[in-house]
Amino acid sequence: MVRALLLVAVCVSSAGLLGLAVSADSISEQARKLHFSSIVVDTHDDTTQRFLDGKFDLGTRSSSGSIDIPRMRDGNLSAIFFSIWMPSKVTGSEAVNRALVQIDAVREQVRRHPKDLVLATTAAEIREARKQGKIAALMGVEGGHMINSDLGVLRSYAALGVRYMTLTHSGNDEWADSSTDKPAHNGLTDFGKDVVREMNRLGVMVDISHVSDKTFYDALEVSKAPLLASHSSCRAICNAARNMTDQMMKDHAAKGGVVQINYHVGFLSQEFRDAENANPELDKARSAELVKRCGDNQGCQILEGDRITREYVEQGKLPRVDFTKIIEHIDHAVKVAGIDHVGLGSDFDGANMPYGMEDATKLPKITEALLQKGYSEGDVKKILGENTLRVMTEVERVSRELNSGK
Ligand SMILES: [Zn+2]
Repeated sequence: MVRALLLVAVCVSSAGLLGLAVSADSISEQARKLHFSSIVVDTHDDTTQRFLDGKFDLGTRSSSGSIDIPRMRDGNLSAIFFSIWMPSKVTGSEAVNRALVQIDAVREQVRRHPKDLVLATTAAEIREARKQGKIAALMGVEGGHMINSDLGVLRSYAALGVRYMTLTHSGNDEWADSSTDKPAHNGLTDFGKDVVREMNRLGVMVDISHVSDKTFYDALEVSKAPLLASHSSCRAICNAARNMTDQMMKDHAAKGGVVQINYHVGFLSQEFRDAENANPELDKARSAELVKRCGDNQGCQILEGDRITREYVEQGKLPRVDFTKIIEHIDHAVKVAGIDHVGLGSDFDGANMPYGMEDATKLPKITEALLQKGYSEGDVKKILGENTLRVMTEVERVSRELNSGK
């Protein structure tokens, strides 16, 4: 009896170790086949910040962060939107200059890895990249502050390959309100509405992640094309202002849009959020530690921030959030918005990832979990990427129509 008990203990602990080390072995053959035959699209990754100090190269497997070419291949991440991002407080020509530097950094990574990456700007180009065995690299500008209130700048970004713009980041910009700032414009200003119209004409997706509820409804009314929520989760499960309410998701879906579920633990788990809010000293301590470790290097701050958050979880100061919470949000969004209106927008390399979804190699677990939940293979493919491709195709169609003067 004692011996048997011991054996059980050994089995449990070695299974635990294996689970920590590799997840790929727990993926069923059906899930593996389905996942690797699908086009997997992720509409939000902050890896661009890592390109900026010149020390990180996408081609080399890294032991930190979530994204590099070898790990994208391991997890069959087929199309990735690299975020062009800086804090909302950076404005004017400095914001434009910094955005151009980031766009160039993404394009240079693509140029350096022609066997693995190809710059894509349309749904058809993503499918073509897939046929050639390459990963499609795309770009999204995360925050309207980067156009410096100038439609010409927006057009230039589009010409360089940018295919979505998030109307705000966490602060208001000159023409749109953010969900995490004090309302200043009652949603979109008249110029903000012109920005949306010009994005429609250019075929740049209108991204409503981060924006206030009123900005979302203004954009929904003005836009002739479906909207994108590039990295947003469900407010019904986790009450973050930048998550979408059930009603918003329904209205978004009614116009053909797609909500791309964000994996950040603070947007997934109410328990995690409550624990963070209950202990503001933790956040202060983390900020101080980040400056110590990274100075003002944003790429470093993001990765170290994730590491420190993990340390707090290990020390019992914050609750552990597992990747199954992502599945809970996907399932809720599907129930509310419909199977054609949900996708993936990880926030990899820009947020705190849940246990079991540390990097791109873990993506097949999403396929496995959805199959286990009873989703059909066709439905899983929609969530993995086909829904996003449909929205892109529709945005391209509207752009062609507007340019032909119809
Ligand atoms: Zn964001």
